[in-house]
Amino acid sequence: MELTPFFVAGRPTHGADEVTVHHPYDGRPVGRTTLATAEQVEAAVAAAAEAAASAAGLPAHARASALDHVSRRLAERTEEIAALITAENGKPVKWARAEVGRAVSTFRWAAEEARRDSGELQRLDTDPAATGRIALIRRVPKGPVLGITPFNFPLNLVAHKVAPALAVGAPIVLKPAPATPLSALLLGEILAETELPAGMFSVLPLPNERAAELVADPRLPVVSFTGSGPVGAAIRRAAPEKHVTLELGGNAAALICADWSDDEDLTFAAHRIATFSNYQAGQSCIAVQRVYVHEWLYDGFVPRLVAAVRELRTGDPTDPLTDVGPLVSTDAARRVEAWVDEAVAAGATIETGGRRDGANYPPTILSGVPKDAKVCAEEVFGPVLVVDRVENDAAGFAAVNDSAYGLQAGVFTHRLDVAFAAARTLEVGGVIVGDVPSYRADQMPYGGVKGSGVGREGLRSAMDDYTDPRVTVLTGI
Ligand code: NAD
Repeated sequence: MELTPFFVAGRPTHGADEVTVHHPYDGRPVGRTTLATAEQVEAAVAAAAEAAASAAGLPAHARASALDHVSRRLAERTEEIAALITAENGKPVKWARAEVGRAVSTFRWAAEEARRDSGELQRLDTDPAATGRIALIRRVPKGPVLGITPFNFPLNLVAHKVAPALAVGAPIVLKPAPATPLSALLLGEILAETELPAGMFSVLPLPNERAAELVADPRLPVVSFTGSGPVGAAIRRAAPEKHVTLELGGNAAALICADWSDDEDLTFAAHRIATFSNYQAGQSCIAVQRVYVHEWLYDGFVPRLVAAVRELRTGDPTDPLTDVGPLVSTDAARRVEAWVDEAVAAGATIETGGRRDGANYPPTILSGVPKDAKVCAEEVFGPVLVVDRVENDAAGFAAVNDSAYGLQAGVFTHRLDVAFAAARTLEVGGVIVGDVPSYRADQMPYGGVKGSGVGREGLRSAMDDYTDPRVTVLTGI
């Protein structure tokens, strides 16, 4: 098995210590790479700082054509990249293909944003003293971006950081998740085919403690982190003077409102919730974890939900028909098992489920779960759904809000007044009306409140985050 290079200032290279990446499904080795040495990290950061000094001048056509190239190459290599994502992450290949498709569109959209981004013209002559004045507001990169990403979308979450950075002309130093570096390294290979100046990107496999050193480096003024709450909090403490975006966890809820009552509605919601509590084996920050059902619909809905979950095909993620594959590791599956056992010991009922097998955990529905059980109160990050009844829609909103997190919520209703009440009341970054919370598009700001993070991603939001407005006031116009 060939050693996969990483990238320092756009150039492929190898480091000192070798790491082997394993398939979560059967543990077989699927790739080898090396960790960056201290000298290589220094070279990457120094090159990024140097590129930042001139990158503001990188013309839009150069940024856009590099981004278009990446989008095109990802599309051409979809099958190969999907197989790689499945191999290192364990997600079913149909979801891995979807992930590549999303990255293709992220880079294409970023190219469009790079072309479109023209700044703003603001008249100032609304004040008599400013007659003849006008302000030209352009956005300039704050400096190099440090991107730190988790294992669950090893390509897509990397794309959400790399594409907006390159769209604004900010160099990026990316540190992928230790369990899943290969997709990010393949993206590095594609980036290296572009005409981007050296120093515009580096991809550095590093263990956690060495990533912390990068967080502290003053030459990287922007830190864009996606990952768990405790690590996010540590990053914020370590870099109080930096611009830090934190995309953290959640325990997303779906609410079945009183009006979502006919057969077709309930069957649709059951299938959507079954699919999106178990996609990526529940390892998505917006996977459905809690479902609140209006009490007059509850007894009719739960059997449909159980039936829809039982229809999901579990097993080998390389099989194109598999819906649910393994978790990222046996340890992760053991933790989920322990949390379910704890809920059952506290009185919960297993509506459907089964036994753990290595890293595989069966799609599980629990009812009668005490609110403070971990499967309800914390982020389960596994294929486990907690279902409960609520008296009315207002009680449903309160149940959704009864969480330390606030990423997104799904509200199944046809009523505009209920939709607007949800939008007003729910303490989340986004409300999806008529569907599950598990929806994200590049055009929308994406992120959470409370324990789910600080700041927003989505191309425009990230581009704003990575830049500062610079104002030029023209006089005598
Ligand atoms: P994690 O927090 O363990 O690791 C994330 C990244 O941080 C990895 O690259 C890791 O190496 C790095 N890291 C760890 N310690 C560090 C330190 N001290 N300093 C700097 N970097 C450090 O998360 P994970 O287990 O890989 O991913 C799962 C988490 O990610 C879940 O909580 C999930 O909800 C969250 N997530 C959030 C979003 C979102 O957009 N809100 C999306 C996907 C995943």
